[in-house]
Order: sequence, then C-alpha cells, then structure tokens
Amino acid sequence: MPWQESPTAWRTTPRPQGWKALRAQALDRDDHQCTWVDEEGSRCTAQGTDADHIGDAQDHSIDNIRTLCRTHHRKRTALQARAARGQQPKRKRDSETHPGLISHRRQ
Ligand SMILES: [Zn+2]
Repeated sequence: MPWQESPTAWRTTPRPQGWKALRAQALDRDDHQCTWVDEEGSRCTAQGTDADHIGDAQDHSIDNIRTLCRTHHRKRTALQARAARGQQPKRKRDSETHPGLISHRRQ
C-alpha cells in the first residue's frame, strides 16, 4: 500500500476505488493549479498536486473534489483535524466545594 501511516493521522476514511482517476480528473479540470482562495479573494498560483474533499469525505463525486497544492492541503488537513478535535466533548471538571463554605449547623 502506498499510503503512509502516521501516528497523527486522524483520517480513517479509505480512499475509494478509482480514486487515482478521480484525482486526475479533478486536477485536469482545475488546470493543475491550486484552487485555494485566500481572504483577499486571490487564487493560489502554486501547482496543484493534491485532490481534496470540499465537503463530505465520503462523497467522492467530482464536484466534491478540488485541487490543492501540497502546502494548502496540509493547511486544510490541519484545520480539519482541529475542527474534529473541537467536536469532542470537553471533560468536565469535578466541582469542588469551596473550602470557605462551612455549613452552619446548629447543634
Ligand atoms: Zn495553494
């Protein structure tokens, strides 16, 4: 298998059958240029080498695939990883009883 496994890999979705052809199709459509658009609206001019899912990672239709350069694909993956981490429920801290609060109990 050509895919590199890394201990930080969060993506578990397997590549679909025919992914190579799909990737080539996306790259051709996007003229092998990165489709990343920055905050100012200008498109990245780097050579597009990677195919990225725009939305649902399970949706392998050509409309859901776009071309990115290596740099932006990494950036995008990092953002997704952060978003995925953010969706995890936060651990609640055990509530501590304030030491100054002493119940005044009359005997
Ligand atoms: Zn780029």
